[in-house]
Amino acid sequence: MSQPYRRYLCIVCGFIYDEAEGDPDGGLPPGTRYEDIPDDWECPDCGVSKADFVLLESPAEPQEAPAGRTQMQPGQDPDQVVVIGGGMAGWNLVEALRAEDSSRTVTLISHCDADVYPKPQLSAAAARNRQPDDLITVAGPERAQQLGINLMPRTRVLSIDTERRRIITPRGGVPYGALVLASGARQPRPTLAGDAADQVMQVNDLHSYRRFRAETDAQAPSRILILGAGLIGSEFADDLSSAGHQVDLVDQASHPLTRLLPTTLSATLGWALREKGVNLHTGCTVQSVRTTPEGPLAVQLDSGETVQSDVVLSALGLIPNVELARLAGAATGTGIQVDSRLQTSIPDIYAIGDCAEHNGQLLPYVRPLQEQAQALAANLCGHETHYQANAGTIVIKTPSLPLAVWAPEEDGEWVEREADGQDIVLEHRSEDRLTGFALSGKRTRDAKQYEAQMRGQ
Ligand SMILES: Cc1cc2nc3c(=O)[nH]c(=O)nc-3n(C[C@H](O)[C@H](O)[C@H](O)COP(=O)(O)OP(=O)(O)OC[C@H]3O[C@@H](n4cnc5c(N)ncnc54)[C@H](O)[C@@H]3O)c2cc1C
Repeated sequence: MSQPYRRYLCIVCGFIYDEAEGDPDGGLPPGTRYEDIPDDWECPDCGVSKADFVLLESPAEPQEAPAGRTQMQPGQDPDQVVVIGGGMAGWNLVEALRAEDSSRTVTLISHCDADVYPKPQLSAAAARNRQPDDLITVAGPERAQQLGINLMPRTRVLSIDTERRRIITPRGGVPYGALVLASGARQPRPTLAGDAADQVMQVNDLHSYRRFRAETDAQAPSRILILGAGLIGSEFADDLSSAGHQVDLVDQASHPLTRLLPTTLSATLGWALREKGVNLHTGCTVQSVRTTPEGPLAVQLDSGETVQSDVVLSALGLIPNVELARLAGAATGTGIQVDSRLQTSIPDIYAIGDCAEHNGQLLPYVRPLQEQAQALAANLCGHETHYQANAGTIVIKTPSLPLAVWAPEEDGEWVEREADGQDIVLEHRSEDRLTGFALSGKRTRDAKQYEAQMRGQ
């Protein structure tokens, strides 16, 4: 009998390769097995190779619980590891912990449903007509059972009692031996005038994405105005435009993604998005959002222009959720400050993912949280491990102009090595050392090679 089809997850962007569906646009007919994928095949969303894919366990094939794993209930074990946050950081940590230690009691508490899904896919799902629930790779309770941990979904942690080593929730107190904050980050809400200012939407989790898709799909094709042309705003603009919506993208800067990209590339991205049909409004911002008798919202820009829109989406960056840590007395800056063992200023309390700040740096990306989860799991299991902060290559999922960038952390200058239409190579150099790179178009294929140079020198 032939093997059932399997699914593989891109660890960089969360794209799921399903053997049953293949990737016809990428030359893989339905039914192509992972083993048969050629080495030069690229992830349709971020361009990495098949080596960056991992097997997703099928819900139909639960893992065998390792012998001796008898979980105590959340309220019982004072030595347990308690993880706050059921996002990618929380789940990655629990998985890494279980790989090292199958017997310690672990309790994951999350304000959300804690279903497992690759968050980066939120800004890449509409073009493929994937519904929000299609993104869930495994339901939270099922994953908890597979891993042998306690899960408390839909539970907000209210405070941390460091003296009694307990966290406080509306469902009661939970003792901890080690506490991990993986509470993520939220988006700032813009201060806008107008009677429809509170209708402005934000997408930073599956729940908000469901509401957003319900709005945009109800009147498809919709007119969607996105405020903020950073990574998330630019990705959404490209994705929603591919899905057939009319997109207006507004940013104060003169090009999209100016904070991350050298000017040559941000200007090229602006051009590529315009070519695709995105109305790019640069050097301006939104002042007010008002209802109109005709139906659509009237979005007033400070340039004097008014844009008619069905849905307004704000994507203005991230604010780490530091409140629990701050109230407990832990040192915070923009994020929760941690040392190289991922420990906060309070013993036995740790932080990873979008909420954590290491050496003054926030790294709100998937690769860093995976590396942090591995390092912290080792530390929690008694193997002293030091995390080395590094965002690595940031892949931007804008199919109009594929981009890969290693953002420089020191002064230097950008040197153009190649510029052939959309295929551009820029190296960042400081005293003749490579200190970063930015690649676009077909040249994003060189990212691995450049990354090896960065890590090797
Ligand atoms: C649209 C989009 C596209 C992206 N694309 C990419 C990409 O291509 N590549 C990349 O590397 N990164 C990308 N990112 C960033 C990446 O997804 C995040 O860095 C990562 O998912 C953060 O995971 P996290 O677990 O730290 O935080 P979150 O996902 O924010 O999870 C935080 C969790 O904490 C819980 N929580 C918070 N407060 C409490 C409380 N008081 N009590 C209980 N639970 C609490 C929340 O319910 C949530 O479950 C993207 C992000 C978005 C939004």
